Amino acid sequence: MANILMSIRERRVLTCQGSEIAKRWLGAPGSTVKPLSLLALLDAGKVNENEEFECPGQLILAGRSLNCSHPKVPVPMNVSRAIAYSCNCAVAHFAQRFAPGELEEALLRYGLASRSGLLPGTEAVGFAGAETGAEQQLQALGEQGVTATPLGLLAAYRRMARRSADPKMRPIIEGMEGAVEFGTAQRARLQRVRVAGKTGSVRMPSGFQAAWFAGFAPSLLPEVAVVVLAQGRSGGSDAAPVAGRLLREYFGARA
Ligand SMILES: [Zn+2]
Repeated sequence: MANILMSIRERRVLTCQGSEIAKRWLGAPGSTVKPLSLLALLDAGKVNENEEFECPGQLILAGRSLNCSHPKVPVPMNVSRAIAYSCNCAVAHFAQRFAPGELEEALLRYGLASRSGLLPGTEAVGFAGAETGAEQQLQALGEQGVTATPLGLLAAYRRMARRSADPKMRPIIEGMEGAVEFGTAQRARLQRVRVAGKTGSVRMPSGFQAAWFAGFAPSLLPEVAVVVLAQGRSGGSDAAPVAGRLLREYFGARA
């Protein structure tokens, strides 16, 4: 549907398929928001990277069932494992610490809901808004109260990539590396280049199933950021392999 690879330093699109969808498709970004949510908590000093939380596996927010789909993990969750395993329970738990409107502000600051200007022509803009505590927890999971275009998500991941040397980013990058090494994003893995990535799978009210991958590489000295939006049941099986192909093409013999 849409896939875009961009140079981080030059802020320039290198390859793009489905540019109209990249500019205009708007929907919930699902779990690709989790790294941004947890980074906002780290930035605000509301969580630290060593804090642990035992995942109960089951989660209901505003009447919606959002149970974790990761296998049982023998250790408690922390920031990086919550990303690597895409743990809904841990992210929703930590997200209770946001003041009203705090996450919304952070997501807007990351450019998630702004015009990126990365491609010529008219571009749709996303939205971030949540009122109650449960709404803000759903927002932190990327399920509700936040929409983005593929370009908006790409711009937000580029901003994270630009901070790769910031100590606050360390658990976030570790988590996204884990997602690619042993989590849902394994099909974006490269042999010799470390990829930091996150998948998302969202069922839209229309019934459309959006499969996302967002990430950057190399994880510690990022050169490129990539976003894939595909139609399919899961980001891991439908979007991550496309991202893997784009990254292999970019890195060539280095991959
Ligand atoms: Zn969990």
